[in-house]
Amino acid sequence: MKATVVTSAPHPTVPHQEPVESAILPTYARADVTFERGEGVWLISDTGERYLDFGAGIAVNALGHAHPHLVAALTEQAQKVWHTSNLFQMPGGERLARRLVDTTFADTVFFTNSGAEALECAIKMARKYHSANGEPNRYRIITVEGAFHGRTLATIAAGGQKKYLEGFGPKVDGFDQVPFGDPEALLAAIGPDTAAILVEPIQGEGGIRPFPAATLRELRRLCDEKGLLLMFDEVQTGVGRTGKLFAHEWAGVTPDIMAVAKGIGGGFPMGACLATAEAGKGMTAGVHGTTFGGNPLAMAVGNAVLDVVLEEGFLERVAAAGLLLRQRLAELIDRHPRVIEEVRGEGLLLGLKVRGSLADMVTALRAQKLLTIPAGDNVVRLLPPLIVSDEEIRDAVRRIDAACSALERGQSPAAAE
Ligand SMILES: *Cc1c(COP(=O)(O)O)cnc(C)c1O
Repeated sequence: MKATVVTSAPHPTVPHQEPVESAILPTYARADVTFERGEGVWLISDTGERYLDFGAGIAVNALGHAHPHLVAALTEQAQKVWHTSNLFQMPGGERLARRLVDTTFADTVFFTNSGAEALECAIKMARKYHSANGEPNRYRIITVEGAFHGRTLATIAAGGQKKYLEGFGPKVDGFDQVPFGDPEALLAAIGPDTAAILVEPIQGEGGIRPFPAATLRELRRLCDEKGLLLMFDEVQTGVGRTGKLFAHEWAGVTPDIMAVAKGIGGGFPMGACLATAEAGKGMTAGVHGTTFGGNPLAMAVGNAVLDVVLEEGFLERVAAAGLLLRQRLAELIDRHPRVIEEVRGEGLLLGLKVRGSLADMVTALRAQKLLTIPAGDNVVRLLPPLIVSDEEIRDAVRRIDAACSALERGQSPAAAE
């Protein structure tokens, strides 16, 4: 069966929208709603309905929609130069890289267009590091079950999820996966060919599953002892999402290599791979590249995002907002124990584990005009823009409360609309 999509009426006098065949490859089951514009934490549909956006385009719109500082930065750059390639000097990229280096463990940055590309750079860097050390056999990377690192051939192998690997030929070699929370299995997986350990400090797509701080510290110790590189995938957890600039700061340890994307561009497609000088030492001129990565438009927006996120008090405010949301959600468990089982996460990266159908929950929430993102382990992700106000948090909680009540009444999510 061909996928269908509802498009805007071709002419203003045509009253009804007829489903037409989509020309887009149908790899997404899209909700039947079209957003025309956004303001802060709100998205407005083409029928004029206002939705509270607690999905933020999957943790991307860190400063919400149409943030004036980002709009100004992009507009200003758009009038100067859009693209020159990495064959020339990149002042915006130099500035952003310097600022990232000044605020993190890193000494060096490679800019990409997406999270998966940031991970590709990280994976190649770890392999090249050992090769530069005269140990090219050390190319294997240990990852953890439930991980998500992207959809390229290498990153689906790193993520190790059957549903993403199925049908795409032999899995890219060089990834060894261990169960979540099994230190003995991890230790046993380290062999003479192991190059690195790669984890998300809090698994995002896997269902907001945090690694305890003690585990992250133990990974650091283990990597130091065995000469392995520690790699953090902070594509979802980074750039203020958890109330620190990067989530690993909560544990007080630093990685050797880190992948960042999603929030870093506030909605402009971009990513970055950060590393220590030592870990990056094999990445010399010509060994890696990108046509678009570090493009002037992306760098202008990336710098503008940092202007706001690094403002005094911004991260503290994210942490406080996260605490408020978490407390209110905990109260909802008391009110709806048959619907919600648990709240977890950090800052504004929160998950609600639901007891019934996850799809029904997300639909019921959307019927209340609240956008959320489903994840693994039967968890609904709540990832509002980091600028969300206390009033908007209370508003969202009222909508979750109403959605839970509708589900308890056994109303089908569609009937609740
Ligand atoms: C989204 C995500 C990725 C992949 O990013 P893309 O931009 O979709 O390639 C990788 N790792 C984590 C943790 C993510 O959440």
